[in-house]
Amino acid sequence: DLWQGIDFSRSKAEARVDGSTGVKFCDVAGIDEAVEELQELVRYLKNPELFDKMGIKPPHGVLLEGPPGCGKTLVAKAIAGEAGVPFYQMAGSEFVEVLVGVGSARIRDLFKRAKMVYIVVFHVSISLENWWCQVNKPSVIFIDEIDALATRRQGIFKESSDQLYNAATQERETTLNQLLIELDGFDTGKGVIFLAATNRKDLLDPALLRPGRFDRKIRIRPPGAKGRLDILKIHASKVKMSDSVDLSSYAQNLPGWTGAKLAQLVQEAALVAVRKRHNSILQSDMDDAVDRLTVGPKRVGIELGYQGQCRRATTEVGVALTSHLLRRYENAIVECCDRISIVLLGGRAAEEVIYGRDTSKASVDYLASASWLARKILTIWNLENPMVIHGEPPPWRKSARFVGPRLDFEGSLYDDYNLIEPPLNFKLDDEVAERTEELIRKMYGKTVSLLGSHHAALLKAIKVLLNQKEISGEELDFILNNYPPQTPVRVLE
Ligand code: ADP
Repeated sequence: DLWQGIDFSRSKAEARVDGSTGVKFCDVAGIDEAVEELQELVRYLKNPELFDKMGIKPPHGVLLEGPPGCGKTLVAKAIAGEAGVPFYQMAGSEFVEVLVGVGSARIRDLFKRAKMVYIVVFHVSISLENWWCQVNKPSVIFIDEIDALATRRQGIFKESSDQLYNAATQERETTLNQLLIELDGFDTGKGVIFLAATNRKDLLDPALLRPGRFDRKIRIRPPGAKGRLDILKIHASKVKMSDSVDLSSYAQNLPGWTGAKLAQLVQEAALVAVRKRHNSILQSDMDDAVDRLTVGPKRVGIELGYQGQCRRATTEVGVALTSHLLRRYENAIVECCDRISIVLLGGRAAEEVIYGRDTSKASVDYLASASWLARKILTIWNLENPMVIHGEPPPWRKSARFVGPRLDFEGSLYDDYNLIEPPLNFKLDDEVAERTEELIRKMYGKTVSLLGSHHAALLKAIKVLLNQKEISGEELDFILNNYPPQTPVRVLE
């Protein structure tokens, strides 16, 4: 039986009710501004009648926006905890997740029978109805990952012939429509607050953000050094941490770490301490924990010697810094593809600025990617003067022509364009190769001059990356603000 194993009657999306979250604002740190703004919701939840009497309209829904692990769920729970009201939580993906665990072949089979959409609509309305029945007194309803449910409806895909894709999209739209209907018909006077969280506001369907829906947006940012210290203190207070541990040094030296990562750090340190039979967490346990959590791709070139690390840091910073600089001078940049290529060239250009012409493998790889992109600009995307090319030979075929070694690209990019291999045309190939080189040279020149004007910032950023093994966008901006260009930026004239 096709339906076997899919339990539609008990929706996964059913709201979880949490009588008392036990979380208070004092458990949240590093996002003071957001907490300040959210205090108003607590006052409302505690006394909705008063707001009603005074004619003050509470916000309908509040969208918490920010990267994962920065405390969106935590702060939502704290609102409920402070107000002493129940907390209902569900994830946007759970709405859409009905089909998870069902093999895709089987799903296709289901869709063939065309019953699915009906079942899904039924399923969603049932779960919303159940949910709404319970919600008749002050409470907080929290929808996590709302983007999973409410991404922009995409007209261009309407014509897609993929049945599975169509059905999934339709299902999501049905769910979103249902949610919008519920939001619109929802009486705010009852003291119910809708909170939703997303890390991709840009993806959300604009209908969701209209007045009367999620019309208040609050940014939840990653913590700064002071915030990181406060967060560490909160989590340290829950374990047995030796007084000798200098938390502030971790707060200062772990840029980019989110609340979740810092919480994990303290937990990890506690485990290390237990393993080593220490009576409390010592500085060395914390250091071990930092090592454990940072080993992996984020550590730049630990396998390299110092010289190698410097090189590697130079190319990585070159790429990141070029991207930041371009954002600063964005108005002057016209072609987005130019931009991508210039960013890729940043690694090689940074090496030239610091070391001169002699280059490393990493930056040559970036250069090769840039050439590949430039070639695309010239051929498929036809952004420069269009050339008559009805397809593109795979890059490996003409690899000798590239300004770099052969690159292994996944097949997917080509599949996207449904490329048919054109017959070889050496004359055209030569022309493309020439123009590619020309384009790369032009952009490379711009990039070297851009980074050259910011020599001091480049050096500083490399140093920071070498010391910290990690550098955040915020830090790059900070460095750029404090190390202005030594020569006027001419690159974008
Ligand atoms: P998000 O919802 O933004 O992805 P969470 O609220 O789920 O992040 O964070 C996960 C955990 O990380 C929290 O339960 C808490 O232990 C810790 N945490 C995250 N942000 C903070 C913060 N600002 N203050 C204190 N702890 C935090």
